[in-house]
Amino acid sequence: MFEAERDKYLTSHGFEAMHLKAVLFDMDGVLFDSMKNHAEAWHRAMTLIGFDFPKAEAYMHEGRTGSGTINIISQRQWHRDATEEEKERIYKMKSDIFNSLPTAEPMPGAWELLQQLRADGITPILVTGSGQASLLDRLNKHFPDTFHPELMVTAFDVKYGKPNPEPYLIGKQKGDLELYQGIVVENAPLGVEAASKAGFFTVAVNTGPLDDQILLDAGAHLLLHSMQELSERWEDLRTCMQQ
Ligand code: MG
Repeated sequence: MFEAERDKYLTSHGFEAMHLKAVLFDMDGVLFDSMKNHAEAWHRAMTLIGFDFPKAEAYMHEGRTGSGTINIISQRQWHRDATEEEKERIYKMKSDIFNSLPTAEPMPGAWELLQQLRADGITPILVTGSGQASLLDRLNKHFPDTFHPELMVTAFDVKYGKPNPEPYLIGKQKGDLELYQGIVVENAPLGVEAASKAGFFTVAVNTGPLDDQILLDAGAHLLLHSMQELSERWEDLRTCMQQ
């Protein structure tokens, strides 16, 4: 069912076959329905500073480090880099607002998918740009005994962050994987770009308001519309990736 997408990927990378052993998951907008809160928090914090930053723009920056996002808007509106003090202050405002919002629920379909992976003996690896302690703790609450600390890449592991391929290359290393042994699940354009540049077969799940074409243009090899859909079609995808 996914043979055409798989074969196109194999040909372009010079691989003979996929031997799926691990799935590398982004967190916000994939495992948790948290992007609405991030967009709201960014919009409110930027507005307090006097920046023009519509909520929809947050989805285009998703995956970037907080200081990276702040610097881009500073250059746009102040025509200069933000100072370290400004970056820290604005990011703290954003985090405080984020933490005051109702906590995000797990994405529908995510737990069902993770349980299927477990039954199939496929290893889940987390690759997030987030350094939010509250969300990392919540992983264990909502997805118990699923993600192990040695198989997590967070804001604390990376120097560059998405869209640089670095976070996914660290995930590849932590999982001791060849590229044809893993696939990535991402919802954000910058995350898709990072994963496909790293060389992984990248599944985009479009759980936000962006057009599908933005995710395809970022390098997605396959596009689905929800984690529920990925869970429902998992058996077909797994079979295809182990042939
Ligand atoms: Mg995401």
